[in-house]
Amino acid sequence: MTTMKKAAILGERQAGLVERPIPQPKGREVLIKVMVAPMCTEYKAFLEGKPHDCLGHEAVGEVVEAAPGGLFRPGDRVVAMPLSGCGECDLCLAGDFIHCLSNPMQDSAMSQYIVKPEVSLRKIPDDLTYEQAALACCGLGASFGAMQKLSVAAYDTLLVTGLGPVGLGAVINAKYCGARVIGVESNPYRIEVARRLGIDEVVDPRDPDALEKIKAMTGGIGPDCAVDCSGVPAAHRLCIDAVRRKGKVAFVGESHTETPVVVSRDLIRKGIHLIGSWHYNLNDFPKLANVIRRSPEARHFVTHWFPMSRIQEALETSVSQQCAKIMLRPWE
Ligand SMILES: [Zn+2]
Ligand SMILES: [Zn+2]
Repeated sequence: MTTMKKAAILGERQAGLVERPIPQPKGREVLIKVMVAPMCTEYKAFLEGKPHDCLGHEAVGEVVEAAPGGLFRPGDRVVAMPLSGCGECDLCLAGDFIHCLSNPMQDSAMSQYIVKPEVSLRKIPDDLTYEQAALACCGLGASFGAMQKLSVAAYDTLLVTGLGPVGLGAVINAKYCGARVIGVESNPYRIEVARRLGIDEVVDPRDPDALEKIKAMTGGIGPDCAVDCSGVPAAHRLCIDAVRRKGKVAFVGESHTETPVVVSRDLIRKGIHLIGSWHYNLNDFPKLANVIRRSPEARHFVTHWFPMSRIQEALETSVSQQCAKIMLRPWE
């Protein structure tokens, strides 16, 4: 067998499967048979409609081919992180391959096979299933990195703006740390999922008194930390305005528009820490594995499973926002 199936955008709101050659690993790359491909931001390409076959950046699967003497062997079960580092620069060596000094390679993980360099792989602990390990990419990984940087603890109240799949992952991570969590969301489906995950309070972003309500929930002081998972400038502002003096704010949701920040008022005099957070340091993978194995409520986080052959329906579900995390099975 020399060809495989992969998902592709065929036109505006049109997706399907295409037949492509199985990729060949070179050097310290590894060929992986993909068992689960989580869905993430692919709905944007689906709406845009430009035809291409590079969908997906998250995967778990089984190593089928690896160079002798490398870190992985055929039969190893692995998590393939988003993008790929060079494996040689200081950032890759420190576990921060996501910020690799060379341009990280593009992925296309919604395929039956993918090739990845060793640097962006981690072995799945024996007690975790592929389904559980699939949470270690953007599902729980994006917000886990932010929790690490914010040092969220059981003493803290955390504000999470945007309860899409990344924000719901933040709820799981924050509850694991024992923090009190206030969410900002208007989508009833996602609020219901957040409640199952143990969120403490939810505020509607359309409420003109949202900021005052968040302050009132924290004795007028404001949450200790905030993480934006929406990428919406108004939510960025809400995080900065709501957090307490000397609090911490992390931006996780991608945004390519400007968010107004007044340096003296917002940063220097309020004394907040404002950081961007993209993925997590892979040296902390064993800690994230603990979050996964000890968070039984995480089962509520994955709301849909689709065979990859139903990619059209899977992407329509993603666009509808009547879902939390969606997973694909590439061999069905
Ligand atoms: Zn690198
Ligand atoms: Zn992702």
